Amino acid sequence: MASESGPYDAVIIGGGPGGYVAAIKAAQQGLKTVCIEKRGSLGGTCLNVGCIPSKAMLNNSHIYHQTQHDLKKRGIDVKDVSLNLPQMLKAKEDSVTGLTKGIEVLFKQNKVDYIKGAASFVSPTRIAVQLNDGGETEVEAKNVIIATGSEVTPFPGEGLDIDEEQIVSSTGALALKQVPEKLVVIGGGVIGLEMGSVWSRLGAEVTVVEFLGGIGGVGIDEEIAKQFQRSLTKQGLKFMLNTKVLGAEKKDGKVLLKTEGAKDGKEQTLEADVVLVAIGRRPYTKGLNLEAVGVEVDPRGRIVIDDQFNTSVQNVKCIGDATFGPMLAHKAEEEGIAAVEYIKRGHGHVNYHAIPSVVYTHPEVAWVGKTEQELKAAGVQYKVGKFPFVANSRAKTNVDMEGQVKFLTEKETDRVLGVHIMGPNAGEMIGEAVLAIEYGASAEDIARTCHAHPTLSEAFKEAAMAAYDKPIHFI
Ligand SMILES: Cc1cc2nc3c(=O)[nH]c(=O)nc-3n(C[C@H](O)[C@H](O)[C@H](O)COP(=O)(O)OP(=O)(O)OC[C@H]3O[C@@H](n4cnc5c(N)ncnc54)[C@H](O)[C@@H]3O)c2cc1C
Repeated sequence: MASESGPYDAVIIGGGPGGYVAAIKAAQQGLKTVCIEKRGSLGGTCLNVGCIPSKAMLNNSHIYHQTQHDLKKRGIDVKDVSLNLPQMLKAKEDSVTGLTKGIEVLFKQNKVDYIKGAASFVSPTRIAVQLNDGGETEVEAKNVIIATGSEVTPFPGEGLDIDEEQIVSSTGALALKQVPEKLVVIGGGVIGLEMGSVWSRLGAEVTVVEFLGGIGGVGIDEEIAKQFQRSLTKQGLKFMLNTKVLGAEKKDGKVLLKTEGAKDGKEQTLEADVVLVAIGRRPYTKGLNLEAVGVEVDPRGRIVIDDQFNTSVQNVKCIGDATFGPMLAHKAEEEGIAAVEYIKRGHGHVNYHAIPSVVYTHPEVAWVGKTEQELKAAGVQYKVGKFPFVANSRAKTNVDMEGQVKFLTEKETDRVLGVHIMGPNAGEMIGEAVLAIEYGASAEDIARTCHAHPTLSEAFKEAAMAAYDKPIHFI
């Protein structure tokens, strides 16, 4: 394609949040740019089978559940509420299609070339593409950014090969054609809890089996994790913590899952209509032919990079899920922009201390920075400031009061080190905490900043007040 018109300044492999953002940024910076994506649609895991479809299902299942269980006491009588699952799935697909097509428009507007096909290295400056429509092309590259993302980690035990119908990954769990009577989720991390919540709201009996002693995955504050588990238990999810899944067999249309207590060794068999394997994701680099050009990969399959996103090959960078760090869309996006800035100007920046995490259940859970257990382990002298939503006027008005905001600040300086929120709209509210950490704010800075009344964000301000002095609306 570009061979005749000269080399591209930037060839981006992968059109997920890392790759497509890098491509747009590169073109905006005046670099001649092409993005190669083999999926047939842009947006990667996030838009096609990740963040976006899961949030569509979370939002709509929440509305359904609320209509059934919550509206009456608010003075809204609704008759004959029933689930139209095909329509809910279609609404999800419509959101996905709208957004993925939107990126194509952005590519056109920004003059990013887009090749639909699978890329592999011929040399560090030459990329071969197997075109989706058949045939092959090659592009020449001054710089390459690998943004090939990740894939589901398969379960190592026997009988749990993913068929996306009865034994599903998150992709299958986003497209079940009927509500399973019994869903067993292996893994109590973010994806398992989100998908477990969706199907529980739609009527499934959901059991989450987790090897560790707590839910929420890496980086969650232990106090918040316990509160979160209590909340989900109240909603009907069952948890088997400290439990190892040994394997499974299919029998009479069911899956029989063998588990073992991680502490007591007690064996149990769980019966499920559907099993969701949600034990994590691993970097995806298949077919890139990395060995041929000498791009180094670590034992966990992550492409090795330095602090400027350079791989072991001079003009090749890597960003997003394919390399180190949290597997999050916004982390990939930040890296995409910074990697392009390194190419264009020789400097760029991502603050890995200020990357938020959100679990989009109801209530939501969101955090940024250090957890209390991390500060304790590091011997940091810290203060805690908390404010419960039950004491927040807007949460009370909305009759949606579960959870709290928790600040962790450095004792001597009052600098914000971490913020952990469980509550309505926590995922939006955490943005203020990210900004605080980014700017090195103190709790007092936030406490002295006027927040509109009545808003949930007043709980955020009052938790900051609690960290450096006292809150007004709670003892
Ligand atoms: C169910 C689920 C829910 C999630 N929810 C959230 C969320 O709410 N918030 C959040 O921040 N993150 C969420 N994530 C994680 C998020 O999707 C990823 O962190 C993000 O997509 C990573 O972006 P990326 O650009 O690195 O890779 P990806 O999005 O994986 O994109 C990589 C792309 O590269 C393409 N590709 C691979 N190899 C080649 C090749 N050789 N040639 C051409 N193309 C290639 C792939 O087809 C893919 O489209 C979720 C993930 C899942 C599975």
